[in-house]
Amino acid sequence: MKLRPLFRLLLLFFSFQLSAQEYALIIHGGAGNGLVPENYTEAQTAAFHEALNKALMRGDSALAAGTPAVEVVSLVIQVLENDSLFNAGKGAVLTYEGRASLDASIMDGSNLEAGAVAGLSCIKNPITAALAVMRYSPHVLLSGSGADSYAQSKGSICVDPAYFLIPSKVKAMDKIREDIRVRDSIRDHKMGTVGCVVRDKEGNIAAGTSTGGMMAKRYGRIGDSPIIGAGTYANNKTVGVSCTGHGEYFIRNVIAYQLSARYEFLQNSGQEAADYMIHTLLSGQNAFGGLIGIDAEGEFFYAFNTTGMLRGFKREGEAAETYIFGLEEK
Ligand code: ASP
Repeated sequence: MKLRPLFRLLLLFFSFQLSAQEYALIIHGGAGNGLVPENYTEAQTAAFHEALNKALMRGDSALAAGTPAVEVVSLVIQVLENDSLFNAGKGAVLTYEGRASLDASIMDGSNLEAGAVAGLSCIKNPITAALAVMRYSPHVLLSGSGADSYAQSKGSICVDPAYFLIPSKVKAMDKIREDIRVRDSIRDHKMGTVGCVVRDKEGNIAAGTSTGGMMAKRYGRIGDSPIIGAGTYANNKTVGVSCTGHGEYFIRNVIAYQLSARYEFLQNSGQEAADYMIHTLLSGQNAFGGLIGIDAEGEFFYAFNTTGMLRGFKREGEAAETYIFGLEEK
């Protein structure tokens, strides 16, 4: 007999009985094949843990104060966007032309509302632009200079684009322009996109993702991160998901939504669905990346087929945990 459907019915029943639920949040800071301990000094790994913990603590205090899931996603992602360690906001990788082109998306699982932006060039915190699109516009996805001005009109901060030109990224692009073959070795090293999935005290689930995309991208290339259903998805009835990795494959396979559908229609747990999406589907296509999420039962899940994925999670009243490399270490 399949117990999961019965369990889900009971869960639904009890969630109506309980006024407050235990809150939880999970984050990622990108997956990559260069993420192996040998490539990082102790100081560098400590900086990753510190940055992940800082973001988790921001989310924890907001959740404890009763902030709704979707707002917490934005607050947590802003912390990561302001940290040059990640490929999002300040630390975004640069396009072939040497500028930042930023993508982000956010989704509220309580009502399936969503907002996304692609190809921003001056917004300091792209996730605030995605949230503005969700909240104030009749649209889901805005792009380019139109998205920059819409976000500004709704209060997102526009910075001088030089803000994003951190020396290590400029140097990497100069190297690539000298020899395009350098690109893959640098790009696969660490992808660094950021994402967050939250379940708040009301049991509402929300998810968001923010990225500079793939290094040396050209021709207005846009990846999965601002595509609802590919890089981000949230539905209180199923899961919240945020992805990172080779975006073209995440779009073709509609990874975030397909994970939700496996939970809904195949009675997979979140973790079973995540393992299938990453280790069966993507690995079967020789595609790389990872994802994080929380399912309607409140369980965390994550999977990646790279050597590492920056990640962390925290549940109400419990200690935060952060990880960088394979499945074993701290
Ligand atoms: N998924 C992002 C993209 O393809 C990149 C990443 O996650 O690192 O734009």
